[in-house]
Amino acid sequence: MADDPVHLVAVIGAGPAGLFAARALAAAGARVVLLNRDIKPGGLAEYGIFLNKYKMKSGLRRQFHRILTDPRVTYLGHVTISNKGDLKVRDLAALGFDALVYAIGAQGTKYLGVEGERLPGVYHAKDLVYHYNRLPPFSERPFPMGRRVAIVGVGNVMVDIANYCAHFADCDEIIAIARRGPFEKAYDDREFEDVEDAFDHALYREEIERIRPRLQAAGQNADELLTALAAKPEGSPRARARLRFRFLASPKRVVAENGRVVALEVEETRLERKGERISAVGTGEITRIPCDTVVFAVGDRVDERFGLPYREGLYVTAPAPERDPSAAYQVWDPETGQPLAGTFVVGWARRASDGVVGRAKLDAETGIKHVVAWLETRPKRTSAEAERVLAAVTDALEKAGATAVTYEDVQRIEAEERSRAALARVEELKFKSNDEMLALLRR
Ligand SMILES: Cc1cc2nc3c(=O)[nH]c(=O)nc-3n(C[C@H](O)[C@H](O)[C@H](O)COP(=O)(O)OP(=O)(O)OC[C@H]3O[C@@H](n4cnc5c(N)ncnc54)[C@H](O)[C@@H]3O)c2cc1C
Repeated sequence: MADDPVHLVAVIGAGPAGLFAARALAAAGARVVLLNRDIKPGGLAEYGIFLNKYKMKSGLRRQFHRILTDPRVTYLGHVTISNKGDLKVRDLAALGFDALVYAIGAQGTKYLGVEGERLPGVYHAKDLVYHYNRLPPFSERPFPMGRRVAIVGVGNVMVDIANYCAHFADCDEIIAIARRGPFEKAYDDREFEDVEDAFDHALYREEIERIRPRLQAAGQNADELLTALAAKPEGSPRARARLRFRFLASPKRVVAENGRVVALEVEETRLERKGERISAVGTGEITRIPCDTVVFAVGDRVDERFGLPYREGLYVTAPAPERDPSAAYQVWDPETGQPLAGTFVVGWARRASDGVVGRAKLDAETGIKHVVAWLETRPKRTSAEAERVLAAVTDALEKAGATAVTYEDVQRIEAEERSRAALARVEELKFKSNDEMLALLRR
C-alpha cells in the first residue's frame, strides 16, 4: 500500500548491479532512489557491451525498463555523487536514507607503470569502449586509431577492441600482447569467434614455434595448440586487418618519435609454475614491437578519489568475510576501525572488472540480502517522511546546480533516437553529447 511505512534506500549507479539491486530492494518492500552519473541507465550494459550485440543489449534494456517503471523506484540520472561531483558522499549520507548502496562500477584506470602510458595514441580500453559506444563525454573526444594497434591483455575486452579495430576502424594489423602464454589466455572462445575472420593462422603457428621451448620448459605442449588451431576455420576476407598474438612479452615502454607512437618495448618472459599458478618472469631481453597505437586492456580499478575508503584498487570492506559473509559488502572505515553504518558496495564497485552482467546481477542480489537484514534492524518511516527525504535530495541537487533527468526523460530521449535510427536505416543511433540530450528535453 502506498501509505505503508517503508525503508528508503539510495542506490548509487544504475548499471546492471545498481538496477538489479534496486529490483531486489523494491521486491523486499523498500522505496529506492537510483542516482546515476550518466543520463541513461545501464552502465556498461549500455556503454560497454559490443556495438553490434543488439539482441543482448535490447534484452537487458527490456529488463531494466521493468525495474525503472516500478513505482517504488525513482530514477535520477545525470547526477554525479563523489567528492568532485554534484553531491559529496558525506552530504548524501547526511540526507537521512536508511541505507546507501554503492554500485558505481570500476571507474578508475589501472596504470601498469609502463613508461609512456599517458602519451597520445595510448588508450585505456574503458575510455575507448565508452567512446565507440557513445558515452558522453568520451563520445565527444577523438580517439584516432592507427594502422598497427598493439592491445595489451588477452581477455574478452581485448577481443572487443580487436573486433573494433578489425571491423569498425581502419587498421591493418592488431597485435594482442600477453605476459604469459597461450594456455593462460583469459578470453572465451565463443567471444573470439567475432574476430576469427581476422585471426592469422600462419602468424599464430610461427609464434607458437618461437615460444615452443619456453612452453616446453613449463611442461606445456605446443602441439595441443596447433591441433586446436587446425580445427578452426581460416580467416575469411571479411576483415581487412590481421590479428596476431605476441606471447611471453611484458610491456616496458611505449616508444614515441616526434610525439607519435612508433613501438612498444617489451621484455621477453618465461613461465614459472608456482603451485597451481603459472607466472611470467622477465628474462631481461628487450624487443620492440612496431605499432602506432597502444590500448591497455588489463581491467580497471575503482575510482580512488570517489570518497569511500579505498585501498589497493578497491573500496575497503569489513574484515573477516569468511566468518560473516555480509562483511564483504559492508563498507569499512579503516581510520575508525568501524563499519560505515548502512553503507554497502555491490557489483564492479566491490570487485573491479569482475565478470559479465550475470555475475554483477548475482553480486547485487547477494549484497541486497545483507542490506535487507540491516534494514530489518531499523524502524520504518512513514511515506510522508520518505517524501521529505526525496524532496531534500532534489533540493540538494538543485542547489549544486545539477540537471537531474527522470526515467520519463530518458524514455523521450530513447524514442527520439529510435526514430532517427529508423530514418537513417540503422539498427541503433545514440546522441553524442549530454547537451544534445538535454536540449531535446527542453523542447
Ligand atoms: C568492454 C566491455 C564489454 C563487456 N561485454 C559484456 C558482454 O558482452 N556480456 C556481458 O554479460 N557482460 C559484458 N561486460 C561486463 C558487464 O558490462 C559488467 O559485468 C557490468 O556492467 C558491471 O555492472 P556494474 O553495475 O557493477 O558496473 P557498471 O556497468 O560500470 O555501472 C556503473 C554505473 O554507475 C554509474 N556511476 C559511476 N560513477 C558514478 C558516480 N560517481 N555517481 C553516480 N553514478 C555513477 C555509471 O553511470 C554506471 O551507470 C563487458 C564489460 C566491458 C568493460
